[in-house]
Amino acid sequence: MGKESAREITNQMIELWDMTNTDWMGYEKEKKDIFSYHHLRVAKRNGGPITIENGAILCGDTAHPYLHVVERYDRDKFLYLTKVLIEVNDQRFMPTYDQLVRMDDVLNEFEREHSSDINKKGHYLIRDSFTRRLVKKKDFYFFE
Ligand SMILES: [Zn+2]
Repeated sequence: MGKESAREITNQMIELWDMTNTDWMGYEKEKKDIFSYHHLRVAKRNGGPITIENGAILCGDTAHPYLHVVERYDRDKFLYLTKVLIEVNDQRFMPTYDQLVRMDDVLNEFEREHSSDINKKGHYLIRDSFTRRLVKKKDFYFFE
């Protein structure tokens, strides 16, 4: 197999997982945002490949940077989220309601613990947009 670009693999995955407007962590893609490729099982810095098996598809402006914030500040929660995303990768279909709730629970806890934390640049660690997950909406329901 030839070496494919992250964009090509991402587009293949968008099709395989039958993605529309929501990413693997339950974030709705805004108009100006893109679905981006996250190295799931082997990190980019450890030479992880850009393959379908090593990927999770996340919103480039919200879930993706947020997941890396969690990685930096709470390794256990990051590993838990990774575990759920690996399930989504293995199952070859979009997260179930149960999987979205499991990720949401962990992120809610992270948000309670770090809501007032500030990063080196003087900004809140957790941007408002990071907390907007579809599963939290009152009228959210999910067809399985
Ligand atoms: Zn990433």
